[in-house]
Amino acid sequence: MEKITIAIDGYSSTGKSTVAKQLAKALGYLYVDSGAMYRAITLFALRNECKENNSINKEKLIALLQEVSLEFKYNEQKGYGEIYLNNENVEGEIRNMEVSELVSKVSAIPEVREKLVAIQKDLGHSKGVVMDGRDIGTVVFPDAELKVFMTASPATRAARRYKELLEKGEEVTYSEILKNVEERDYIDSHREISPLRRAEDAVPFDNSDMGLLEQFERIHNFATQIIDKKKNAQ
Ligand code: C5P
Repeated sequence: MEKITIAIDGYSSTGKSTVAKQLAKALGYLYVDSGAMYRAITLFALRNECKENNSINKEKLIALLQEVSLEFKYNEQKGYGEIYLNNENVEGEIRNMEVSELVSKVSAIPEVREKLVAIQKDLGHSKGVVMDGRDIGTVVFPDAELKVFMTASPATRAARRYKELLEKGEEVTYSEILKNVEERDYIDSHREISPLRRAEDAVPFDNSDMGLLEQFERIHNFATQIIDKKKNAQ
């Protein structure tokens, strides 16, 4: 079957990974969570004391970058690849608030992006991949056949994330989550290198008032139309 590359970008907590996982499963494609990679490097930075006064010691982290190895290992039960930092499964730890508060600063460092973009390009080199992130349609796979740019209001997104973290037993407040969502939006869209923006050829997709099933069906439909067109053109 004709395989394509699918890039799902957008603001934080817009449900990118949920729909990306569903799509990968339905199409038999590889799912890659690029945010997990930035989060894993942030966890590494925290563990190696690169955080100073609520900021990041860039020189220290850059000097340690060669010690970071990242890979995804498929979890049969979950149905997707989990992130391993230097051979340790860190899928749970990378979602905590400490990492969320620092990750946008770490991901604005050019050397970090260079390292991760190279791994991401490699993971998708033979197509049949669904990758979600901030710069997938603009930088990692500018030639992706399907690009979707997801948005939803900050309040909707914060409410979703709040529910998710409470369910995991984290002690957080709604206002601290909303602040984190807004701060990350700002830093991600204003950084010098690969800022978050919609690629010109990406489909804008606002899911503020949309259920998960409708969202999946619509995006899956975009994908199958493109795949069928490719098949017919052969
Ligand atoms: O997708 P998620 O919210 O887990 O991403 C965490 C952070 O990683 C984002 O807020 C952003 O700073 C960074 N990121 C990025 N480029 C990507 C994916 C994530 O800069 N492709």
